[in-house]
Amino acid sequence: MAKKYDVIIVGAGPAGFMAARTAGENGLDVALLDKKKDITSFNRSCAQTLVSMTEPYMGNLVVLNSRDNRISLSPGGFSLKYDGPHTNMYAWSFYAPSGHPVRLGVAAESRKIGDLARIGVAIDKEILFQNLLDEVKAVSVDVFPGIQVEKVTPTAEGVIIEGSGQSFEGTYCIAADGVNSGIAEMLEMNDDRYYWCNLNVISHYMSGVDTDPNTVITSSGYLDDGKVLFFMAPRAFEGEFNVQILSIDPRVNLKKAMEHFLTQGFTGEWFKNAKKLRSMSAICSCYDPIEEPFKDNVLVISDAASTQEIENIGALMCGWKAGSTVSAAVRERNLKLRPQAMSQYVNWWKESFCNAYDHEAYMKNWILTFVLTKPEKMSYAFGLLDAPLPANFNPYTAGKIMGAKMATLTPVIAQERPDIWHELVRLRWPLKEVYGEVTDVSKPIFDIPGLIPKARPKAKVGREAWVKSFGRFLKEKK
Ligand SMILES: Cc1cc2nc3c(=O)[nH]c(=O)nc-3n(C[C@H](O)[C@H](O)[C@H](O)COP(=O)(O)OP(=O)(O)OC[C@H]3O[C@@H](n4cnc5c(N)ncnc54)[C@H](O)[C@@H]3O)c2cc1C
Repeated sequence: MAKKYDVIIVGAGPAGFMAARTAGENGLDVALLDKKKDITSFNRSCAQTLVSMTEPYMGNLVVLNSRDNRISLSPGGFSLKYDGPHTNMYAWSFYAPSGHPVRLGVAAESRKIGDLARIGVAIDKEILFQNLLDEVKAVSVDVFPGIQVEKVTPTAEGVIIEGSGQSFEGTYCIAADGVNSGIAEMLEMNDDRYYWCNLNVISHYMSGVDTDPNTVITSSGYLDDGKVLFFMAPRAFEGEFNVQILSIDPRVNLKKAMEHFLTQGFTGEWFKNAKKLRSMSAICSCYDPIEEPFKDNVLVISDAASTQEIENIGALMCGWKAGSTVSAAVRERNLKLRPQAMSQYVNWWKESFCNAYDHEAYMKNWILTFVLTKPEKMSYAFGLLDAPLPANFNPYTAGKIMGAKMATLTPVIAQERPDIWHELVRLRWPLKEVYGEVTDVSKPIFDIPGLIPKARPKAKVGREAWVKSFGRFLKEKK
């Protein structure tokens, strides 16, 4: 009879590694499975940053302590080793198609202050994974690379996980299998989630790029076949950048869009002497979060249960919390205590993520080009935002900072450019309606080959949402 584990963790991303380390530290028998053969490799698009260093994220402040090579989250209460390089990010600039930047912070000023003023840092995830693998092995976790999980079967006493010709038995499973979680789909946890669209991405690591080394950059592209976002952040390695093209419209040719930004207009100027070092891609199914992530002895965590992406910091936090929770749940079972740990996790998840953040506001990050229909209109609107806004690198906050400033300018816009005002008002519509154009042509994907998304009736935008949006419209019109 094969070994029965206390917990089987599927997915060795930041969440799965952290869950394995925590459960291992607490003395559980842990198996960590990932489909990747080289478990510390990182092969998909990600800007590889730690976000939100000037304000709490999911209730915790992030510290990168380079003196002792540790990342810590407090008051969450854990730290982990990171002995790789990093680059500070001091500002986030949103460029209009005209080349006019709306600045959240000014890097030249914040650089003078140093680490305290950094809004985020770029790290290297392969080094982070190597550090985590060392820590996981030090607490006797059995690590199984090259296992593509295909089946999860709940049993009376736990759960059986099968994949790549092998079978694993555990009391619990933590599904940390990422944004396209096949496990969430198999356990029917996606049934009640609203599916927005897919976010499609291609990216290059590049050197020789001629821009500020500590500023994150976003811009929009209106191309012949659709709309895209251009995103660029420094890499951990000096002189390198992570350059990405993202689109929620599956009809767009991302390669052509990348070529456009690398050769044309104001961004083209930055890449005249640039060199591509490595290329990657990603597809992310975007849903609302799972509200009840525990079912049939399986706890679904991190990106697998979140809106599009929970960020590396959120993933580490979920992993730590899930590892601690399962440790408590196993102890409750062994001592025949009343089970409480899992419901505590679910409550924590609801409070610190589902209810703490406005997930519709997050989804607005991708939709502005669908609201402002012409590049000239976006350039006009961004052109009104001249003075720098507060520095920020929290995807839930940055859009709100810009939105709030823009709201103060609506009387000017309504008077000078009623055509633009009429389009901007669509941001007040029920967002699901605005998204309809891309939701209708998108289908979720899963990280389990052959798993087909169920046909689900399309969620209708309710009357209540429309009444609310109409109220906001009237208030603004006054
Ligand atoms: C384009 C892009 C840019 C991003 N930029 C940033 C950023 O700058 N900063 C930031 O904080 N976050 C960023 N993120 C988000 C960040 O990557 C995620 O939030 C984070 O990695 C989530 O961690 P996770 O452990 O939950 O999932 P993942 O990191 O996705 O790990 C999931 C693991 O599960 C494995 N797996 C999946 N299915 C199976 C299966 N069936 N069997 C076995 N193994 C399986 C995968 O191989 C993978 O190793 C970005 C994401 C994207 C797509």
